[in-house]
Amino acid sequence: MSDIIQLLPDHVANQIAAGEVVQRPASVVKELLENAIDANATNIQLIVKDAGKTLIQVIDNGKGMSVTDARLSFERHATSKISSAEDLFQLKTKGFRGEALASIAAIAHVEMKTKKPDDAIGTGIKIEGSKVTEQEAVVTPTGTSIAVKNLFFNIPARRNFLKSNQVEIRHIIDEFQRVALVHSDIAFTMYHNGTDMFNLPVSNARQRIVNIFGAKTNEKLVPVTEETEIVTIRGFVVKPEFAKKSNKEQFFFVNNRFIKSPYLNHAVNSAFEGLLKENTNPGYFLFLEVDPKTIDINIHPTKTEIKFDNEHDLYAIIKSTIKHSLGQFQIAPVLDFQRDSSMDTPYEYQNKKVPSPTIEVDRTFNPFASEQQGTPRTSSFSSGTLAKKSSEGWESMYVGLESKITNSATDITTIEFESEEVTGSFFDAAAVVQEQVTLQVQNKYIISKIKSGIVVIHQHRAHERIMYEEFLQHITVNQAVSQQLLFPVLVELTKEETLFLKEIKPILENTGFVFSSLSDSTLEVSGIPAAIRNEQVPFIISDLLASIEENMLNDTSLHASLVAKSMAKSIAIKSGKPLTNEEQEDIVNRLFACKEPTISPANKPVFITYSTGDFDKKLL
Ligand code: ADP
Ligand code: MG
Repeated sequence: MSDIIQLLPDHVANQIAAGEVVQRPASVVKELLENAIDANATNIQLIVKDAGKTLIQVIDNGKGMSVTDARLSFERHATSKISSAEDLFQLKTKGFRGEALASIAAIAHVEMKTKKPDDAIGTGIKIEGSKVTEQEAVVTPTGTSIAVKNLFFNIPARRNFLKSNQVEIRHIIDEFQRVALVHSDIAFTMYHNGTDMFNLPVSNARQRIVNIFGAKTNEKLVPVTEETEIVTIRGFVVKPEFAKKSNKEQFFFVNNRFIKSPYLNHAVNSAFEGLLKENTNPGYFLFLEVDPKTIDINIHPTKTEIKFDNEHDLYAIIKSTIKHSLGQFQIAPVLDFQRDSSMDTPYEYQNKKVPSPTIEVDRTFNPFASEQQGTPRTSSFSSGTLAKKSSEGWESMYVGLESKITNSATDITTIEFESEEVTGSFFDAAAVVQEQVTLQVQNKYIISKIKSGIVVIHQHRAHERIMYEEFLQHITVNQAVSQQLLFPVLVELTKEETLFLKEIKPILENTGFVFSSLSDSTLEVSGIPAAIRNEQVPFIISDLLASIEENMLNDTSLHASLVAKSMAKSIAIKSGKPLTNEEQEDIVNRLFACKEPTISPANKPVFITYSTGDFDKKLL
């Protein structure tokens, strides 16, 4: 039999390698940005069109390449960064495998222009699917510009596999931020479809974080520093009261590389123990320097995991350093006149002394006279509290009320909360007169009579189902009832959140939100869906963005039901919330008026039934 083994042609090998290096547009962004940094650029521009599907271009002012290097850079295993295996243990560069450009050129149309500082003329090269189609001398500024067009043009299956533009641009932003955060000594800009998304001048680390995540971030940061024999830690943690549900503001960098480490993340979490509200994650930007010999950097190019020799020591050091920093900021407020002094109040204390809400109630108003079946709560007393709260400024309102909201669970039925004190006696009397047909158990289940026996309803899921169908209907028929706010509520957003909000704005408007303006970092909300209270707005918006985003990453693209699902999840009453009889009945009635009362939007059962036959059997 003849021999059957043969070497794969280069372009095939490159395509296979590309499958590992380039998973999505964001992978190209990462590789190109890293090459620019390795080339000692001080100014890097990223230009993206259609979330990178049409164009990803990185322009740097780095050291450029000679004609030969320009051509060679697209060969596989062509690198200027290491020449022997020993070099692997003292890497100072981001790249070293020499695979990225070859891989990218195998699956896209690539145009490179590059010039070294001392050369008068540069080199232009065009490559399509690993084949050089053009090479010429060009006039171009010092540095390198690489444009990657029509990614996966020759692998339709991969191209079709890409997610929606919203999802892909999020991945790109993530990569961009990871690189930009750790190189504040380099100026970065990012444009998407012609709009300027980030403009980051050379600055210190703190300023870079603020430039990326918004001006308000500054006062939320607590510095962290520690030097030991095995590690140097610099960076910041976010004050516990600003912890978010999403884990987007969690960054570990080791020797200037972004890494993910569930183990070290756990160390941070444990340092925050007792300081965080339920279901929130600490925010952190931690820059670790360790001896390169103590980590395994010879990792897969796209992986962000890393192996440490002395993981346990690192864990202990990180935990105690952060604990120390948090303790310092709590007892010793820094003398800084720019600071909002309310931020210095220890978290625990703030939590205990939640200011009780001032109530301004229209005493002649009887909420239950017209308040059946989810009639919109556009009542006058909502705007009464609003007038007071808004004048106090959004920030203070948010801090106090946030804890109140979590304590009392997200109760959309404002009626009970605000009016009970004032008109309590009325309710008692009414309750006696009315026949009680529901019963709440453990503040979690509602039991109600049905013809054949009883039904046990999960209150949170039931309410989620009700709200979901309501929102979905509002979105699709565009007939939501909106409460106009007397004073608009201001919500602070990061650049990313702003971008994301713009995408989903039309759908949110269909649910009843009215946004009067959306600038770079502030959203002005002047109308809200009937089911929401104004003081819940900042909380709900951030919850909503996190939840939609999370869903989108698993799901496919954005659609109305996703928004409805996320809204319902954010505002549905939680387990653990005591409900009045009226509220219990309201839920039961509205649930059984739903199209699909049996399952929650997240596909969990909403209720179970027991027939009297079941009892008979058990009680034989
Ligand atoms: P690696 O970064 O692992 O060396 P790449 O395929 O990313 O491999 O790049 C190959 C080589 O091309 C690099 O080693 C470098 O010499 C050169 N190169 C790539 N991008 C640039 C750039 N922006 N400026 C200067 N040289 C570059
Ligand atoms: Mg590289």
